[in-house]
Order: sequence, then C-alpha cells, then structure tokens
Amino acid sequence: MFNIVRVRFAPSPTGPFHIGGARSALFNWLFARKMGGKMILRIEDTDLERSSRESEENIKAALKWLGMDWDEGVDVGGPYGPYRQTERLDLYKKYADRLLAEGQAYYCYCSDEELEKERQDLLKDGQMPRYMGKCRHISAEQIAAYKAEGRKPTVRFRVPENQQILVCDMVRGDVVFDSNGIGDFVIVKSDGIPTYNYAVVIDDALMEISHVIRAEEHLSNTPRQCLIYDALGFEKPVFGHISLILGKDHTKMSKRHGATSVDQYRQLGYLPAGIDNFLALLGWAPGGEQEIFSVAELIKEFSMERVAKNPAVFDIDKLNWINQHYMRQLDAESFFAAARPHMIDAGYMTGDESGAMLDWLKKVVLTAKEHVSYAAQIPDCVKMYFNDDVIPEDNDAAAVLQAENVATVMSLFLRGLHDIDVLDGAAVKILFKSIQKTTKLKGKDVFMPVRVALTGNQHGPELAEIIPLLGADRAEARVKSGLAKAGIPLCKE
Ligand code: GLU
Repeated sequence: MFNIVRVRFAPSPTGPFHIGGARSALFNWLFARKMGGKMILRIEDTDLERSSRESEENIKAALKWLGMDWDEGVDVGGPYGPYRQTERLDLYKKYADRLLAEGQAYYCYCSDEELEKERQDLLKDGQMPRYMGKCRHISAEQIAAYKAEGRKPTVRFRVPENQQILVCDMVRGDVVFDSNGIGDFVIVKSDGIPTYNYAVVIDDALMEISHVIRAEEHLSNTPRQCLIYDALGFEKPVFGHISLILGKDHTKMSKRHGATSVDQYRQLGYLPAGIDNFLALLGWAPGGEQEIFSVAELIKEFSMERVAKNPAVFDIDKLNWINQHYMRQLDAESFFAAARPHMIDAGYMTGDESGAMLDWLKKVVLTAKEHVSYAAQIPDCVKMYFNDDVIPEDNDAAAVLQAENVATVMSLFLRGLHDIDVLDGAAVKILFKSIQKTTKLKGKDVFMPVRVALTGNQHGPELAEIIPLLGADRAEARVKSGLAKAGIPLCKE
C-alpha cells in the first residue's frame, strides 16, 4: 500500500495544450491538494519527432496561469527525477534488460511490411489485429540471418495467455480485460526509445505514484500497463479514468466546436478562476446546486467519488456564464488591465496614454464590466465611444429619427446640454425630465432619438452613462450629423 497520495500529470509536449489536458491536470492537482499529497509534473517526450521544448514551456506556462503548481517534476526537481522521459532512457533499458533476461520479453525482427501483412490477413479473417508471436521462438540461426540483413529488433512484451486482467478504477469500478485479446506488444522500439505503455509504468512505479488520474482514452492501454507492473513485481496504483469531453452536439470535442487550447482561452481574455471552475465541473458533480466555486472551495469539495462515468459536455455558454461572474468580481484596475491588450488590438488605445486620456479610457472600459463574459468582448462593448460617424444599425433605428417631434427634442437637448455646468449622470437625467415637461412627450420619445443619434442603436447602456463620457462637444457633433444625414433640420433658436 502506498502511504501517501502521489499523483502525476504526464503530458506529451506535442502541440497546443488542449483544454482536456488541463482538466486532467486539474483533477490530479485538486486530488493532491485535497488529500495533502504530492503533485508531480512529468514530461512524456519520447515521441522525438513531435515533441518540442516550446510545447513543454507552453504547458508549464498554462498550468501556472491556471494556478496549478507541482511539488516535484521538471523545473522544480525532486527525489525521483529526472522528470523528463528522454532523460530516463537508461532506466527503461535496465528494466527491459531484466524482462528480456527473464524471458518476459523478447527481440522481434519482423519488418513493418510483415507486420502490416499480418494485420491485413487477420482483418480479412474477421479477427482482431494483433501480433501473433512470430518471433516468440526464433532460432539463433534465424536471429543471425536477420542481423546479417541489418534488421534492428524491437523488444516485445510476452503477454501471458488466458489471464483476466483486473483494472481497479475509481471512476469506472472494476474493469476486467482478457489477455488473449492483447498481442505481444512493443515496449522498446528499434531505435531504443521506449513506447508509452512501457515507459509510463516504469515511471509511475519508480515515482511511487499512488493514483493515476487520466483521460478515458487511456483505459484500453491500462491492461497492458497492468501486465508490466505484474511482470516486474511493482505495486499497481489505483486508476481513475475520467470521461471524454464532448462538444454540445455530443461528438468528440474538436476544433469544430471552437477554441480547444488553453492558450486560445487565455488570449480571448478568460480568467483562470473561470476556467478552473468550469473545468472542475466537466466530469465532477458537486453535491448541491452550487456552480460557482473558488479554487479554495474546489479543493475542499473535490472528490473522485463524485466524478461521473458518462461523458462531460463542453458547454461554452456555461463557461461564459461562469467567467462573467469572475469578470464582474474584478476591481476596476484589474478589469482595465484585462481589457488593455484587447483595446490596443482594436486600435482604441495605444497603451502609451496618460493623464486625462487614460482616466477617460478607464471610465469607458469600466462601462463594459457588467456586460461581458471575457475580455476580448470589451472593445465591441465600448465601440460607440470611439466612432463619431454614427449610422443607425437597422431600419427600425433609422425610423426613430423620422418620428414627428425629433427636431424639437433634439434642439432642446442641444440647448440644454450646453447650459450644464457639470455634465454628469444626474445632470443628464434632469435635462431629459425638463425636455419631457416642455414637450409633454413620453420619456421614450425623448430619449430614443437621442440614443439613436449618439449610438446608432436602440439598446445599450443608459444615456446618463454615455453622455458624460462623450462630453458635450462630441454629443452635439453626433446629434447634428445624425440629423443632417437623416435630412432633419434643427429648429431655429
Ligand atoms: N503522455 C500521455 C498523454 O499525454 C500520458 C497519459 C497518462 O497520463 O498515462 O496522453
């Protein structure tokens, strides 16, 4: 029995860090923190062609951004290192040599063409394709002949026959596999590089991993891994295979469903707290109705017992709803900081502003605070403050400017606007009341034309918010050009 919880996240650094990987990392991390255990970050970079340091850096940066730390692993070190598989090749060799010496593994000289032919023949025959053991018992002469041909062998694990392989899984319960369905599989490739199913066992065993929490797609690999644990007399961890993430249409989550990498969400201005909260709910079901969980609450509440077997559905609307909660919680400075890169991208600021201009930008950006789910939405939400060439957004909005009393209302509005000393929300409200009183018109007939002239839109933030931010001069210019474009003359003084 393991006496301390030790879990690991073991990504292959072969491309953008997928949101599903982040979910696996988070479940491991929450479990470790909840149980007072250790979190280990191991890099599985044995796919030499596809692995890159850049991708590894990207994964580490994303984990840190999401607030996950690790007690041992790449960068931080620890007593079970090294934590990068390509730095552990001697260990894999040592145990492969042992398996070979014990006859639990053997050299296989079959060529790719021979293996492919065997595969096709089995398929034609309606059988499961697997290695049928041709090199299990080859003679010394045959080996010499292969070597003379220049063939480089792989090392295959000798799968015992007629065995029931039991996988104890925290999520799926006991899952039993039949060893006869598994052909002897390669554990070391001809270039000396170990395969995933082999290296992962050596590492998990030597690193004394107590719980292996990972994606469901690895469940079918687990019986092979169990056989290696048994062959080497290693204690097996408890497994926990967490369900697939599906798109809203219940097909496997892919690029078609929108952003799939953590980096894309970071760039869109989602907040780590929002992503963590959302990812935790992708497969884990808290006891009650609560959906908003801080990281501290997640650590307190998380349990593998409440991780569901059925697939998790990635609902972007839910993510947006959760993230909006965290956007609203930001203080003014943090909200502005979140908006900044997006405002620069949109061309609404340069980033060099200071003084009154910076103050104005901050006020403008803050008007979006209650209305956006993530920061990239902010420029669109405040665009009306940056474009004085206002055009009614549709025919309905255009029609508002053609109503009967528009000229009178606008004239009164412009006259009143310049009489105001301190143009704030309260003053704007008083002005509209007074126009209403003078004209005896309904409130809507007074403020709607002004709104359309100023923003082009019948909906949006209150005029008491918009007008002070635009200032009297820009408000006047917009009203005048709006009326001119609509062919409506202002009333004479
Ligand atoms: N490197 C594997 C992957 O990225 C790790 C799987 C595991 O956790 O065992 O899928």
